[in-house]
Amino acid sequence: MAGNTSAIRGSRVGSGPTGEIDNGYKAERIQKTYYCFNKHSFSPSFAASVEPEEIPTELDCPHCGLPAGLDKDNPPVVAKHEPYKTHLAYVKERRTEEEAKALLEEAVAAVRERRERLLADARAEVKKTTKNSKK
Ligand SMILES: [Zn+2]
Repeated sequence: MAGNTSAIRGSRVGSGPTGEIDNGYKAERIQKTYYCFNKHSFSPSFAASVEPEEIPTELDCPHCGLPAGLDKDNPPVVAKHEPYKTHLAYVKERRTEEEAKALLEEAVAAVRERRERLLADARAEVKKTTKNSKK
């Protein structure tokens, strides 16, 4: 964990002749292309000594500041109005949640009521048709 500074060891690269491979260190750079939601793309390069898993999967777009990811077709999406939430935002959110719940309960109650009515109607209908068929 600590002391993982091996990447710094390559800092002398560029002072020697190009193409020289020292201690297995290659003066290569890995270029990755990132795409943001606004269809910007940018291609920063990383030292080849960086482990693949150390390469960030998301970077801030230098053009618009939105997070950009490596998947061109699926750039990271940010919910626009929540860099961080205020207490009021939480309260509002909670209230809408409660409102939604109330609406849902109302809807469920309405459905239940209608279903019961339909069931009653159906029963009545069945009774009627049975009566009729007996005629
Ligand atoms: Zn952008």
